[in-house]
Amino acid sequence: MTIESDHAKLHELLIQELQDFAVFLVSPEGRIISWNPGVLRFFGYTQDEFIGKEFADIFTPEDRAARAPHAEMETARRDGRSSDVRWHLCQDQSRVFVEGALHGIRNEAGTLAGFAKIARAVRPVHAAGSMIGTLVEGTDDPIYAVDREGRFVFANAQTARLLGRPIEDLLGHTREEVLPPETAADHRGTDASVMQSRHSRLIEEHFPSKDRGERVILTTKAPWLDSSERVIGLVAIGKDVTSRTAYQAERERLLRELRRTNEELSAFSHVVAHDLSAPLRAVKIYAELLTRHLEGRIDETARQFLSFVTDGASNMENLIESLLRYAESGEELAIRPVNVNAIIDGILHRLEPLMRETNATVTRKVLPEVQADPVRLLQVFQNLIVNAINYSGDAPPRIEISAESSDSEYRFAVSDNGIGIAREHFERIFSPLKRLHGKDVPGSGIGLALCRKIVEGHGGHIWVESRVGMGSTFFFTLPVRPSQRPA
Ligand code: ADP
Repeated sequence: MTIESDHAKLHELLIQELQDFAVFLVSPEGRIISWNPGVLRFFGYTQDEFIGKEFADIFTPEDRAARAPHAEMETARRDGRSSDVRWHLCQDQSRVFVEGALHGIRNEAGTLAGFAKIARAVRPVHAAGSMIGTLVEGTDDPIYAVDREGRFVFANAQTARLLGRPIEDLLGHTREEVLPPETAADHRGTDASVMQSRHSRLIEEHFPSKDRGERVILTTKAPWLDSSERVIGLVAIGKDVTSRTAYQAERERLLRELRRTNEELSAFSHVVAHDLSAPLRAVKIYAELLTRHLEGRIDETARQFLSFVTDGASNMENLIESLLRYAESGEELAIRPVNVNAIIDGILHRLEPLMRETNATVTRKVLPEVQADPVRLLQVFQNLIVNAINYSGDAPPRIEISAESSDSEYRFAVSDNGIGIAREHFERIFSPLKRLHGKDVPGSGIGLALCRKIVEGHGGHIWVESRVGMGSTFFFTLPVRPSQRPA
């Protein structure tokens, strides 16, 4: 045996062993003249069935009509090679997506001796132990690929489950054959834009599913390019977000309901407070008239009873006033830039008589400008300052106001040297009508509840740190809104 014939034998063996590739020869006239086991594997043809066939017979009718076999041979003849990715017809007339190249082979004289076709079915590797295969089949996410016409070239088990069809019923079929027309049209639109733009996109898609209701899938679609950078389809990987979307929708529904209930409650409190004020005013006026009318004619006990009536009416008036403010605090905020220093100036000016009477002093650091509803912010600071004065104990009130800021929020602090608050009350003092101190200090128990409602309405939070007898510090935060961030 000569070296040449050894080589020829080795070549033949090599081609026989190339099971992952279909390798065959085509005569210059376009007739198939050889076969290897890859041909059986991908196209389903035995050697006898394959040899002698027209090369064009393995093309789809559409490609044949478009003279694709002819064009492929022409390019191979002219340029030496023609590569493409396209659907081919199998022996049983099913379709297989194939990536391949046709090479023109010339003899020593330069005459075209024929063509060699080397082709490989485009399918991810499913072999046991393959990392990609394990990943693709092991994931809970649908992964699939379609060609330019939207025919499924690949689908993993999750895709089959999502679409309610076995994988074999998907491969080679278009979206329209698998999905209801409207859904298919939606998908086709986004697919086209991904392939045209050649950029990946994240898309929310809806898939009707018989047994599990509509599924919402968040899909990344990426253009699929061949080695010559031509778009041959797209590859998609999705995440089933149905439960998250349902959760989100339910949350939004509850929030809407909550907002509506709040508005109703607010309107109700408003009406009640208003309607209570009128008869209350009458009680107060007539009790005062009666006191004046009976002056000198009634004894001390009767006079005291009448003063209880007027005091009670005044307290109730204050309470109604506070309730009204509390109800109004739920209304929409008018957010604008607010100079906190100016707000504190105004409050201190208004509180001057009380401060003089109690010998109170207020010190403060330079305070920032924030985005807030100025009227509401004033109510917060005023309540905290008045409380710091009211709950000061015997020593003259010393109050300090300061602020710190971070990228995301401002944190204000109002601290005093007053009677302090026991830890177990830290939370409940922020509830409406909750008071720790009796009649010795005037108040309605609404102030801190109002502060909390306003601060939380701005997206911040409020809390207290304190020790009995050691003073208290009330902290509250306001978020830094995007327009305030340095560019
Ligand atoms: P009010 O002052 O009208 O009673 P608030 O809601 O403003 O109502 O306060 C609730 C309770 O929290 C007060 O009754 C008081 O017991 C306590 N409190 C508020 N601020 C202070 C403070 N700076 N020091 C000590 N206790 C305070």
